[in-house]
Amino acid sequence: MLLDTYGRVATDLRVSLTDRCNLRCTYCMPEEGLQWLAKPDLLTDDEIVRLVRIATTDLGVEEVRFTGGEPLLRPGLTDIVARCAALEPRPRLSLTTNGIGLERTAAALREAGLDRVNVSLDTLDPQTFQRMTRRKRHADVLRGLAAAREAGLTPVKVNAVLMPGLNDQEAPDLLAWALEEGYELRFIEQMPLDAQHGWQREGMITAGDILASLRTRFTLTPEGEEQRGSAPAERWLVDGGPARVGVIASVTRPFCRACDRTRLTADGQVRTCLFATEESDLRGALRSGATDAGIAALWRKAMWGKKAGAGIDDPSFVQPQRPMSAIGG
Ligand code: SAM
Ligand code: SF4
Repeated sequence: MLLDTYGRVATDLRVSLTDRCNLRCTYCMPEEGLQWLAKPDLLTDDEIVRLVRIATTDLGVEEVRFTGGEPLLRPGLTDIVARCAALEPRPRLSLTTNGIGLERTAAALREAGLDRVNVSLDTLDPQTFQRMTRRKRHADVLRGLAAAREAGLTPVKVNAVLMPGLNDQEAPDLLAWALEEGYELRFIEQMPLDAQHGWQREGMITAGDILASLRTRFTLTPEGEEQRGSAPAERWLVDGGPARVGVIASVTRPFCRACDRTRLTADGQVRTCLFATEESDLRGALRSGATDAGIAALWRKAMWGKKAGAGIDDPSFVQPQRPMSAIGG
């Protein structure tokens, strides 16, 4: 298994399939000028499936989430999902996406074996969407969400980031909408992972702010630590339940002690954490003929070096070189 020196076991693998994207969310990417990974450096579909197989059969990984960049831009996505769904033991398979194009692909992805999706949507207002993502694609995301629900990629979760002066007033409206549509809403605190290094602790919308805003319209009851397990989201029952809302407070209430993640970038680097400043190269090993056992040993060694925590709120915190879009959020 993938054990670290603090006794944590990683069973949840995030696989980034590309660093490219069709949106330019301000908290993630600059408008232009971001250097893309070179095509030959990207893992091939076969290499990805091999690494997922090693992770699930040799290293105890139980859950695989595809992400990016925008994973729906990866041409071989459906085939990668199908091949991962055929592995024994079969991992649970999910996808984090901005939803653009999901309208066309949701049914095929479900058919291929995808279990669930998380779709990112920060606002109900098309103009605010355009300001936040620099693209006019709000309607595409709503259609993608509906298609995911229809295809049975459920529970469909919606990820929202609140930005000061842009959509920070929208938390209750987003929750009312999610309840009506049957989506499970989770707010994510903005993290220092933007390519422009523009994140500021001052003025960021905290979990405390989000909860206070939601409580102006809803009664929230904490779900408790037991149900949370290693999930990053703290969850609240809304108006007595069964509907819930989650908040991922990576900055103000980090959950590193219960972390069960391991990450693979689109160019084949293992990262132990979103905020890790070190990476371990599996692509080089794959391409120089390493055996499955050799690759598993490298992955175990990388995870053994996992740090206790990310320390974003610590003055000594250093933002990683790779932006969120190239790590895989
Ligand atoms: N493109 C897909 C999407 O947007 O869902 C997948 C990749 S994206 C990097 C994954 C998640 O990270 C999204 O929910 C996005 O809102 C979130 N994200 C990106 N940059 C972030 C930041 N600086 N702080 C917090 N969340 C961020
Ligand atoms: Fe693209 Fe997702 Fe980053 Fe937005 S958050 S720019 S959709 S990778």
